[in-house]
Amino acid sequence: MSNDCLFCKIIAGEIPSNKVYSDDDLYAFHDINPAAPTHILIIPKKHLTYVNSADEGDEALMGKLLLKANQIAADQGLSEDGFRYVINTGRNGGQTVFHLHLHILGGRALGWPPG
Ligand code: AMP
Ligand code: ZN
Repeated sequence: MSNDCLFCKIIAGEIPSNKVYSDDDLYAFHDINPAAPTHILIIPKKHLTYVNSADEGDEALMGKLLLKANQIAADQGLSEDGFRYVINTGRNGGQTVFHLHLHILGGRALGWPPG
């Protein structure tokens, strides 16, 4: 838990969120400002600032994050038409909340390349 981290506060229930999934290691919730018809964030409950803050000790956690995202995407009905995962990292990556989060985006055709 990082005291001044928005997503740690969401995990702790100090800030409300629209929960999609929770277990001992992961939390998923709807993005407050959706960029697509389905826009869910999945985060580790352990505070990691960036995706590249993870080390070998986080190998299982990172694997679980991706596999759970796959399950959420399937549960949301995104498997057939497809979807996108995004992990914005640092300043050039456009990261605005400094607690690792995987965006799950779907429900429309998404443009490429990103801005
Ligand atoms: P990023 O730009 O990758 O750091 O993404 C941060 C995301 O968090 C953005 O898509 C925001 O809309 C989303 N966000 C910010 N505050 C909240 C909140 N209180 N609840 C849900 N999503 C949020
Ligand atoms: Zn945090």
